[in-house]
Amino acid sequence: MSLKELISVARGETPADLLLKNARIVNTFIGEIEQADVAIYGDRIAGVGNYGKAKEIIDLQGKFLAPGLINGHTHIESSMLHPARYAEAVVPRGTLAVVTDLHEIANVCGPEGIKFVTDLAQKLPLDMLFMAPSCVPATHLETSGAKISSKEVKKILAHPKIIGLGEMMNFPGVVSGDEEVLKKISASKGKVIDGHAPGLAGNELNAYLSAGILSDHESFCLWLPIIPIKDASLWWMTLVALIYFGKAILTLWSERLSTEGWSQFAQFRWQRLMLLSISDFIIEGALARVM
Ligand SMILES: [Zn+2]
Repeated sequence: MSLKELISVARGETPADLLLKNARIVNTFIGEIEQADVAIYGDRIAGVGNYGKAKEIIDLQGKFLAPGLINGHTHIESSMLHPARYAEAVVPRGTLAVVTDLHEIANVCGPEGIKFVTDLAQKLPLDMLFMAPSCVPATHLETSGAKISSKEVKKILAHPKIIGLGEMMNFPGVVSGDEEVLKKISASKGKVIDGHAPGLAGNELNAYLSAGILSDHESFCLWLPIIPIKDASLWWMTLVALIYFGKAILTLWSERLSTEGWSQFAQFRWQRLMLLSISDFIIEGALARVM
């Protein structure tokens, strides 16, 4: 396939290899659904628009056509599935790539567990990209199956499919300049470093950011990081607990309303709500604070 041929197919002169006619295309750039055809040549999409000529034409009759979804952060081990079974479950539903932090398998099996998944990933129809686990074990209070030092993190990062350092849960370690934590961050220079810092704000947040960590999947509201909170004082903990409780109420309401409608509104499951809210709070907030 030459560039000249590809351009000619895109212009609509040379027939495409495959033409997907009458698709409803999910245009993720502008957030709209467009009626159009997709001309494919070789392994490339030559054009999206109005096309007529092709070796093979499939009339989609208004079916939706969307780019493959990318799960930007997951731990595939949480699915309790073998990576091949995981791919079997998500690929038919549109997820074609995952960025997975192998924290959990590493916490049990160490570098061997990471090798097991990265080796398997080469053979799957799912594009798997990995983050080197930054905190194995997650806290010193844990009885884990393995410990991963900064030296091992450096080795793991050398794998071409490892694109960065997984969520840096030890945010107190970053903020206080723990040597081992900083070595892991330095080893990841030039790669992505994911964050995990519930409730961090003010200068502590600045310290965390200055280490080159530019994301945080623990953020649960927009305004919390900008209020001047310096420590885990009692009122802070209460505030966070209330926020989690409110979040849990909203989640359950919306779940309940979407499945059963307004008539079932009164049968609200308070036990489940309490459990969800308290466990969310303890796991994400309090435990991280005592690391
Ligand atoms: Zn995570």
